[in-house]
Amino acid sequence: MANTAAQNDASTDYWPIHIARSDGQAYASLDHSSLSPTEDQDVTQLERWEVIVAGHLQNQIAPKDDKKQYILAGFPKGYELRCAVRKDGGRDYYLYGHPAGPKANYRTPGEFALHALWLASDSTDNGQCPCDLCPKYLEKAKADRERSQAPAIPPSAPATVAAPGQATAVHPSAVPPASAPIQQPPPQQQRPPLPPQQQQQQQQQQQQQEQQQPQPQPQLPPPPPGTTSWTNVFRVGELVWYKHTAWRLGVVIAITPKPGTPVRPGAPDSSYHFTLAPLGHTLLEQPSLVKDCQSMRPFLTFSVPNAGMEELKDKTFDTVNWQAMTSRLSQEPDPTKREINRQVLGLEASKMGARAINDAFSTFDLLAQGTTPDRTLHVQHYGGIYLGAEMVRVGDPVRVINTPSAATPGAGPAQPDLPPDANLVMLITEIQVLTPTTPPGGARATLQFKGNLYRTARLSSTHPPPQGTVSAAAEASLGAAFAEELATRNAIGKDKGARWSWVLVAAQVLRGEHDVQGRFYVTEKLMSVIDPARLQAWVQRGMLEEAPAYLNNRGHSGGGQYVGRRAGRKATLGQAVGVEFRVPGGLVEN
Ligand SMILES: [Zn+2]
Repeated sequence: MANTAAQNDASTDYWPIHIARSDGQAYASLDHSSLSPTEDQDVTQLERWEVIVAGHLQNQIAPKDDKKQYILAGFPKGYELRCAVRKDGGRDYYLYGHPAGPKANYRTPGEFALHALWLASDSTDNGQCPCDLCPKYLEKAKADRERSQAPAIPPSAPATVAAPGQATAVHPSAVPPASAPIQQPPPQQQRPPLPPQQQQQQQQQQQQQEQQQPQPQPQLPPPPPGTTSWTNVFRVGELVWYKHTAWRLGVVIAITPKPGTPVRPGAPDSSYHFTLAPLGHTLLEQPSLVKDCQSMRPFLTFSVPNAGMEELKDKTFDTVNWQAMTSRLSQEPDPTKREINRQVLGLEASKMGARAINDAFSTFDLLAQGTTPDRTLHVQHYGGIYLGAEMVRVGDPVRVINTPSAATPGAGPAQPDLPPDANLVMLITEIQVLTPTTPPGGARATLQFKGNLYRTARLSSTHPPPQGTVSAAAEASLGAAFAEELATRNAIGKDKGARWSWVLVAAQVLRGEHDVQGRFYVTEKLMSVIDPARLQAWVQRGMLEEAPAYLNNRGHSGGGQYVGRRAGRKATLGQAVGVEFRVPGGLVEN
């Protein structure tokens, strides 16, 4: 049970939160080193873990109007955060103590937060804990039991097992196309078991919700095909940068859990291996390779440099005679030079291929189609799209510009009175492809996105919230990415008088293809991939910056020739990828 104590120290803005129950094993001998109170990074990281875990607890357990900032008053007994110093001087942190064994550890505060929530609940059944280590522990206990053929009781499990509230969830894309989203009750996000008084409260909430909403699905739905969660950074089919001595371009062709890691819903990108097809040309026969998210970046974090070879300037990927160039380079008698030439050509092909991919789109999961009332346009509604480098689905947030392009009829005017630094995010409810009905089949398709526009705002308790502020109770209805963005910002924020919220800027507006800048990423997820040191500095300062400042816009990246609609992702990748690309199972390109 989590109990909050009185504020312990006037010098801190945090309220301590204590997890009374522990299954920590206090192993005598562990890998890596103990933290040092004189090492700044250790002190900062310890606080970061304690604040983030407490933030998750607060988010799930505390009353919705609770504005206090909490910090764990230490890890549960028997758990210890330890530090591994890398060769380059960088430090990695691991939390030890789980009964799965002395080698088992949590690598992020988010991973441990799941277990902390379970410890704070009434459940004593590890099978009900959504963390990564409990399933390992149960497997090991089962194997041990079978080996010894004697019944063994896990150290923390008492004889009786309380039945906590069933974890329920709704699909984030099931967010209703809300004309008035502020009145929406929060949907059932993935929830760990709750303490009894909260269970009662939850039951009441559920009853209210059941009167207003369709029945929640009984089980957490798997993430959509090609993704590992709604908020993780990388998806199958996306164009990315990867580190291979220098930064190179590639396409994610598969995402698999790291060996020996039972991956649960909600596990971060760091739990996975990514199989990448290097970008270049099929003629170069470049094999695929496997990378970790720490050696990858979304395509829109860097710009593609211009072609370096004179004869490729002013050309596009499709207008280069790659066959002639490869055979000419293969004439080189010196094998070393021949290999270098090949590398250079591969690099040039990858830059041009990336531009061609960035400038194209392809659709999947057709939901409905029809014609406009005046019968001039054929309209297709899709569940998702490969938009340039990225995969974007209904229910995803995307970064958009305030002033829509003239080419988007019905887009409405730009929103006045926005703070100059406001980053507008559209929560997509519709992806539409419009094609003129005459001439049939031959006309160019136009793409548009429909949804509510939001921005983040830091609200102070001394000022009234701006018009359109989404109430704390309705935040979860905005989907996982929006909820997670606020949860991390508020967990990190040191000013307890202020709280981050989403503000509705405009309801159900349209934006054209070129008004969409790219996917919106949860700041902590994006920065922990592209610049963990900077993220750490923000955490230390108690204030996250706007991650979109670290991203390019699709229209600025590439600068090739607009390609438009392609038949599918494989057709978009074309000759730029030598490894066969298959769309993820369950995703239908049409
Ligand atoms: Zn657990």
